[in-house]
Amino acid sequence: MPSRLKIALQKKGRLAEYSFELLRKIGLRFVANGQYLLLKCPDFPADIILLRDDDIPAFVARGSADIGIVGQNVVWESGKKVREICSLGFGACRLALAVPRKSKYKTLRSLKNTTIATEYPTSVKKFFRKLGVSVKIAELSGSVEIAPEMGIADAIADIVESGTTLEAHNLIPLDPPIFKSEAVLVASPKISAVKRKLLDDLMARIEAVQAAGDKKYVILNCRAKDLKQIEKIMPSLEAPTVLPLAKQGEFALQSVATEKEFWVALPKLKAAGAKDILLLNVEKIVS
Ligand code: ATP
Ligand code: MG
Repeated sequence: MPSRLKIALQKKGRLAEYSFELLRKIGLRFVANGQYLLLKCPDFPADIILLRDDDIPAFVARGSADIGIVGQNVVWESGKKVREICSLGFGACRLALAVPRKSKYKTLRSLKNTTIATEYPTSVKKFFRKLGVSVKIAELSGSVEIAPEMGIADAIADIVESGTTLEAHNLIPLDPPIFKSEAVLVASPKISAVKRKLLDDLMARIEAVQAAGDKKYVILNCRAKDLKQIEKIMPSLEAPTVLPLAKQGEFALQSVATEKEFWVALPKLKAAGAKDILLLNVEKIVS
């Protein structure tokens, strides 16, 4: 039977939809309707295994899954040996220490001998051991933000994205964070050569999606007399493509640019005589 790559993804939660979307963008088809935990891809030799994110590092480390998508924070907390292949550009967050607004503890070092509530005991212990500061840990599996108010802990260490949850609980973060994290593609150290080839194929596709990033395809028309000036202004990867229209004295220009570059150039393009301007999505770029 031909080898099938086993891909571990979060079943439900903050990374699940982004992970599904990425796999769909790279051409994998599957139906994730919440009913099944093993999804077979008909167009590519891969099966998707849906798990709690905490279990993904262990599955990948022992080779029960060949690759997985998971937050770096979960990998670090697990201590499991997996190969980090690449960052995926979503799930950005940080593990931060935070104290009540009126707390007497204002710095990391002042937390000596205090109790810290967290869902990430291993990461917090490692951090303070390195800092040479001893702390006690109150391990919780959720609702960490209320621990100081309940008298369970002096400070918390929790995953923060924008900081609004901390603010809502009257907590302020201490700098620097314990670490910064984002979603990563991880591979098993036990992956076979055949499956490594399948992973390389998927990686090339992911690179094409990442290269497209926020790039757009820009098309516009102009009169011959404005062509040279617009060519100069138009942002592009190399240089714009110039094509004559089936109308005497008119041209079309096409190029690839980031959306930001496009908005910056737009007023100048219009002032130089650009018209019928289209902005289209770019799905993939293969260099
Ligand atoms: P599971 O049920 O799979 O165990 P979970 O509740 O542990 O899920 P989620 O809250 O879905 O986990 O978060 C998954 C990952 O998303 C986190 O481990 C982290 O890498 C990332 N993340 C990004 N922003 C945040 C945030 N504001 N809070 C928590 N996690 C975040
Ligand atoms: Mg979890």
